[in-house]
Amino acid sequence: MRKILISPSKYLQGKGELSNLGTYVNDYGKKALLIASKDDRNRVIKYIESALEKEAFEIIYGDFGGECTKNEIEKQRKIFNDNKCEVVIGLGGGKALDTAKAVSHYENKDVIIVPTIASTDAPCSSLAVIYTEKGEFEEYIFFKKNPNLVLVDTEIIANAPTRFLVSGIGDALSTYFEARACEKSFADNIPGGKSTKAAIAIAKLCYETLLEDSLKAKYASDNNVVTMALENIVEANILLSGIGFESSGLAAAHAIHNGLTVMEETHKYFHGEKVAFGVIVQLVLENANKDELNKIIKFNKSLGLPICLKDLGVKKIDSKKIMEVSSLSCADGETIYNMPFEVTKEDVFAAIITANKLGEDYEKNNK
Ligand SMILES: [Zn+2]
Repeated sequence: MRKILISPSKYLQGKGELSNLGTYVNDYGKKALLIASKDDRNRVIKYIESALEKEAFEIIYGDFGGECTKNEIEKQRKIFNDNKCEVVIGLGGGKALDTAKAVSHYENKDVIIVPTIASTDAPCSSLAVIYTEKGEFEEYIFFKKNPNLVLVDTEIIANAPTRFLVSGIGDALSTYFEARACEKSFADNIPGGKSTKAAIAIAKLCYETLLEDSLKAKYASDNNVVTMALENIVEANILLSGIGFESSGLAAAHAIHNGLTVMEETHKYFHGEKVAFGVIVQLVLENANKDELNKIIKFNKSLGLPICLKDLGVKKIDSKKIMEVSSLSCADGETIYNMPFEVTKEDVFAAIITANKLGEDYEKNNK
């Protein structure tokens, strides 16, 4: 059996660490292309200015256009080459980071990833999502390596809106349950191998950390302060969930997320918010025990994560529409087929309807 584990070469996390950027850049080169939107750059400019004062290195600013498209990647590659840059830095939310990973891949140079929010587990991964100029999903690109360095400044994350952090908790919540399903079915993980004991242990630790520290971290974020609990949740959202999902594999929760995108009402909800409801649906689908299911519903509710379709903007339950969600969740090649039993769109339909009802009941009984 072939087992594979992949991860970033280095992960560094701490309060105010972005102001040490020069020290870290100098490990890879003297001149860096910084791919970030003007807004994101301005948000962290005091850290960058302090870094430039402390250490001798140069930054070229590649103003990021807002979407990770093939044109944007080419534009940034040109800036990289015209300025003879030696290393790429991606700073911001997911799309600027993905663009930086792509530039590093095509230029065969090192990349430093600086997430300024902890809303998904994408920063550590070796893949990028490419969009069309219209902002529609085009394709995933898988790179041959993960980022050289993922640099997380928890002070910056604590100062971002809390909804991002909570959404990241929703994304990270799925990691253990999807890993558990993939382990049972011997499904392939993202790099095409079987999961290691290490990756499963990391996924489990991710879940335990979320149960322990999520609410404390939410309150810290609400007040823009860094606490040990917030540090733990940032690590769970970005590192533990990142390694967990990539090296253990995805299953039903993410497929259900993808299915939910067919409903217009859900579009204004973040990735992790939809995934959090997908976790409840997956647990119903696999007939997880009552205590576990109740624990997750209660957990989501305590953080303001969705527990029923109404929480995702769906006011009226239309069976035809739910069937469309189920069909899309069961599209060819979907990760739902990593579940350790046969899954049909009728099974998913039944699980969505039941999960929704369980969430509604919880709301009714806990008013
Ligand atoms: Zn995700």
